[in-house]
Amino acid sequence: MEDSPLSRRRLLWGAAGAAGTALAAVGLPQLMGPDEKVKAGQPSPMRKASVGAGPPATLRPDGSVDYAPAVWVEASESNYTPSDRPDAYPIEYVVIHLTTDIFPLMLAMFNDPAERVSAHYVISASGTRIAQCVRERDVAWHSGSIWYNYRSIGIEHEGWTDQPAYTDEMYQASAVLTATICAKYDVPVDRDHILGHVEIPLSTHEDPGPVWNWDKYMKLVETAHQRIRT
Ligand SMILES: [Zn+2]
Repeated sequence: MEDSPLSRRRLLWGAAGAAGTALAAVGLPQLMGPDEKVKAGQPSPMRKASVGAGPPATLRPDGSVDYAPAVWVEASESNYTPSDRPDAYPIEYVVIHLTTDIFPLMLAMFNDPAERVSAHYVISASGTRIAQCVRERDVAWHSGSIWYNYRSIGIEHEGWTDQPAYTDEMYQASAVLTATICAKYDVPVDRDHILGHVEIPLSTHEDPGPVWNWDKYMKLVETAHQRIRT
């Protein structure tokens, strides 16, 4: 994820309410698998301290997404730059992120106009839920670099650097999404074009971190890409 003008504390104290609103709007069961429901239901300080409610995430009226398996959960218009890619700018990279927050909180954060942050896609740790928050033609604010933001698609993965939660299903779901993006925009399937946030020049972020298995991921992307191209 990207730096936010809000402190971590503010996020934890403020986003839980927004998350509730967002999930009510989009349908909680639709977006959360059984494992996530359990996690979301656990009592925690941030939930007890929930204050206020952010603007609700809404389904795009026509329900359209750029990637069929995704559910549309729009980001605030304050959190991305409208564009007309790939005509306006070529899409040359996919940037892999780690949320360090649970799936619904990421969606609520992207929907909060004060956060000034977004990504195109968020994938749950279980791999069963994919949300699209920004259209691929638009520029999500995820990499910390304007140059890379304009030329990339950002994918957030639910997980924590000290608490790997990645499942085979999540790797597979992400790999198919990345392969689809690569096929659509002619992005080479290699580590020069599929980057971790940490690899963006001057990045102050370390995600997806050492728990992310790049070898496994790239093999899955290559396999999915070959299947798509044939
Ligand atoms: Zn990141």
